[in-house]
Amino acid sequence: MTALGAWGQEAKTYPEPAPMTPQMSEFWTPQPRIVTPPDMDNAIIAPPSDAIVLLGLNDNAITQWVNCEEGKPVAWEIKEGIMTVTPHSGSIRTKQEFGDYQLHMEWSAPTEIVGESQGRGNSGVFMQGRYEVQILDCYQNESYANGQAGSIYKQTPPLVNACQKPGKWNTYDIIYTAPRFKEDGSLQSNGRITVLHNGVLIQNNTLILGTTEFIGFPKIVAHGKGPIILQDHLNPVRFRNIWIREL
Ligand code: MG
Repeated sequence: MTALGAWGQEAKTYPEPAPMTPQMSEFWTPQPRIVTPPDMDNAIIAPPSDAIVLLGLNDNAITQWVNCEEGKPVAWEIKEGIMTVTPHSGSIRTKQEFGDYQLHMEWSAPTEIVGESQGRGNSGVFMQGRYEVQILDCYQNESYANGQAGSIYKQTPPLVNACQKPGKWNTYDIIYTAPRFKEDGSLQSNGRITVLHNGVLIQNNTLILGTTEFIGFPKIVAHGKGPIILQDHLNPVRFRNIWIREL
């Protein structure tokens, strides 16, 4: 990299950092302790009156979401309020963008067990299009701790593993405070996130270190409001009952 020298006179060359591999930002121990969660299949938390409904309980059309790839239609399936990832069709994002919020959502891993570790029931929900709370079938499926269900992906593992069996419904209740940036784009305050998984606290006002990166360190990139993204990670994960309250 070339940069101005200390006196602004001549260009100076510095070494590039050594290339990282994905494994360098994955740690396996300690594994989050397993907690048997309550059964959420019939514990529907309907949207309160001031919520914006992103996926309604009886929806038969996907109206609040678009494909993350510009111009491509949403090809996920929807029937009676249950939306399913169509693998390879692309991740989807909300049309609307958000700052601070409370988000309720429900997801269910495929009953047909395919793959292991990150290959089983993988999806994800991204805060402001940048910061992933991992969705993964972690029922009798080990993976690196900071990539498990409810991790802030590649940053902070969940406090415990509160996953339901495949086919059962999991709830995420997320309270999100967006990062703040100064006028020059530098960080004023980190994002913060609290997550309850099936009613069990798994992230307690956790600091968001920066963007979700598969390889390398989180980055600080200034931004305004952003969408919720649901990830197509090639597994037919199901979703239902998604609503958001702006704070
Ligand atoms: Mg994911």
